[in-house]
Amino acid sequence: MAAPGKVDITCANCNTQSEHSARVQASEEHSHSAPDLDLRPAPERRHVMNTAIRECPTCKLICPELASPPSGAKEALANPEYLALVADKKVPDHVRKFRAWAFIAEKSGLVADAGFAHLHAAWVADDAKNKGLADVQRHMAVVRLSAARDQGKVYPRQKGGAEALLSDIHRRTGNWDEAVHEAERGKSITDQDFVAALCDLEISLANKHDADVHTTEEVR
Ligand SMILES: [Zn+2]
Repeated sequence: MAAPGKVDITCANCNTQSEHSARVQASEEHSHSAPDLDLRPAPERRHVMNTAIRECPTCKLICPELASPPSGAKEALANPEYLALVADKKVPDHVRKFRAWAFIAEKSGLVADAGFAHLHAAWVADDAKNKGLADVQRHMAVVRLSAARDQGKVYPRQKGGAEALLSDIHRRTGNWDEAVHEAERGKSITDQDFVAALCDLEISLANKHDADVHTTEEVR
């Protein structure tokens, strides 16, 4: 029996049962402040994100659902590159986990999931004040999320949303021209006032060479 707030999960790869923190449901009523422009949750909701990825203590499988990992998991577990990511204790622990999950997602053809995993790793690196690591993770995120956007796999129901997100990631790494380009593109295809205003804000920040974090509160 799992302890309160915990769940027992059997790993589909090695059949070992292990205990994990139960997922906290992200609920809007607990949120008092606005998310960042790249959709990073406000501080009081960030712990929700970190319970999303789980690690099997026996075979080192790292993914959201240990009981039903994606198709590329087995191949990744036999790859020395994956094992090196899992064993890397020099980076913050959640960066380690998100990078490992990104590797499996990529091997499984889940390009958007891989992109978001690298973006989450960048947020954790931001908190650890490790700009070099955050920049590398944002670069890896933007390459994958751009490819996923081209395949219609990032916010397919919200026209221009993927472009606004890509613009913000480019801006945070000082890639001003790309940031403006994506925001212009988002503006040209969206049918929502909020997304258009978000793109305008990204353009004005990029033109000022502002790579800081800003929140959706500032979108008017
Ligand atoms: Zn396992």
